[in-house]
Amino acid sequence: MKKLRLILGDQLNIQHSWFQKTDENTLYLIAEMQQETNYVKHHIQKIVAFFMAMRNFHLSLKKAGHQVVYFEITDTNNPQNLEKIITDCIENYKIEKFEYQLPDEYRLDKQLKSICSQIKIESEGVDSEHFYTKREELSTFFEGKKLLLMENFYRNMRKKHHILMDGSTPIGNQWNFDADNRKKYKGEVPVPAEKNFHTNVAKIIAQIKSANIVTFGNIDVENFSWPSSREQCLEVLDYFCRNLLRHFGDYEDAMHTDEKFLFHSRLSFAMNSKMLSPKEVIDTVVSYYNAHKETITLSQVEGFVRQILGWREYIRGIYWKEMPDYAQMNVLNNTNKLPDFFWTGNTKMNCMKHAIQQSLDEAYAHHIQRLMVIGNFTLLTQIHPDEVDNWYLGVYIDAIEWVEMPNTRGMSQYADGGIIATKPYVSSGSYINKMSNNCAKCFYNVKEKFGDKACPFNSLYWNFLDEKKEYFQKNQRMGMMLNLLNKIKPEDLCQIKLKANSIIQNMDDY
Ligand code: FAD
Ligand code: SF4
Repeated sequence: MKKLRLILGDQLNIQHSWFQKTDENTLYLIAEMQQETNYVKHHIQKIVAFFMAMRNFHLSLKKAGHQVVYFEITDTNNPQNLEKIITDCIENYKIEKFEYQLPDEYRLDKQLKSICSQIKIESEGVDSEHFYTKREELSTFFEGKKLLLMENFYRNMRKKHHILMDGSTPIGNQWNFDADNRKKYKGEVPVPAEKNFHTNVAKIIAQIKSANIVTFGNIDVENFSWPSSREQCLEVLDYFCRNLLRHFGDYEDAMHTDEKFLFHSRLSFAMNSKMLSPKEVIDTVVSYYNAHKETITLSQVEGFVRQILGWREYIRGIYWKEMPDYAQMNVLNNTNKLPDFFWTGNTKMNCMKHAIQQSLDEAYAHHIQRLMVIGNFTLLTQIHPDEVDNWYLGVYIDAIEWVEMPNTRGMSQYADGGIIATKPYVSSGSYINKMSNNCAKCFYNVKEKFGDKACPFNSLYWNFLDEKKEYFQKNQRMGMMLNLLNKIKPEDLCQIKLKANSIIQNMDDY
């Protein structure tokens, strides 16, 4: 039977059982499509990275003897949309069965189901063999529970997959070293330079331009740093183990104006494109730790394992549990628009300038920059979650809706009413000052609440609490914050609110 097997751009998993043997009756289909480049405006590096990785994957398949039909974005016979590409292939190659790997995005899942219901031949969706969990596993785990606590899910995953466990006890007799993972970085240990592949991407950029794909952000044409093949991804993993793991946990929440990546792994693109599996990343890191216990402490490794085995799988489970309603949630009724400086980095707020400029230059910011600087600002200024989602989905190299949306709309913007976060991640300037060196070099004064030089985060923070206090009244975790709000003198609160409203009305002036 002649089969057509679709491989989406984020399904570059060479270890999938599909590829274990070659078969002249099986044709693989990979396509660069405007459908995927244009559903949101993307960072140029994101499109370059995916196209390069797809092309390298194509070469690996061909080298292994598989039959592949590949459409480049500028091919004149490229229909640029999934439905037409599939139906054309079925007709042109006299296909008798269509197969696909279950996509991770709701949008594509719906589209593929619709395509399968229209084509006249047999079709089948198979597992992508990437994640530890199945789509519905988190829903089953939390069945009947009101609170979907990540920590409970994570401990269960540790037991189930026997990771960092001694029988049923966690190694070190402690599940979680979160409290040890909050050091400020003051240059006490040098940060190794990031692993950069210095790839020349001029040709692919020219193709993207000639296909009229509108992008934003910056790119160093001769020194593209991201990995675009499985071999390069494995090099990034090895580099992480050798150079960064020993301080990963310590400085996980730190920010520094001279250090864009600190000790973060930069493995999210490698995993989200499926060039690496989460299991091989965790197994490699745990083995490295076991062989180097004299230089690496358990808290560094546990911190890393928690992000992948815990957060990454949890976020995916929430996505499939809550979609499609999740994409519309906006419980705080936020309606403002993003300021222009999200596309230019042109702001006097040093923390925002650094986090946004870095996002525009590298298509990357680490977790705390995404959560406690940029996301904190958009929540305090009450930006519509659709606007925030679109920016995050476009700007980051690793942004695919299944992982971007629950992190942004849920964890960061609290638009889901607390499905993920038990309280909103908001803070005044003092948190940013505690975790970074941004404030020391800022135009604004982190200690002041009002006045021309007052840190905007301060008035915005109290204004946010005041405006949303009814909503959070019953949230016990907000009790302390709301008590402090009540202690502010009415005349001071009035000034704070005036200041905050002026910032919200004129964000680009700040
Ligand atoms: P490291 O700090 O080295 O962490 C290792 C790995 O853990 C990451 O590669 C990632 O796979 C996983 N991880 C860590 N935190 C999370 C998390 N909260 N959710 C899922 N996986 C996690 N991650 C994405 O992959 N895509 C996104 O679009 C994305 N959007 C985000 C938006 C917001 C508002 C926030 C707060 C976080 C977002 N994250 C997203 C999670 C996290 O910020 C990134 O995974 C991380 O910064 C990627 O860099 P790294 O590989 O160096 O991570
Ligand atoms: Fe950011 Fe305020 Fe600190 Fe400036 S003073 S860096 S705006 S937190």
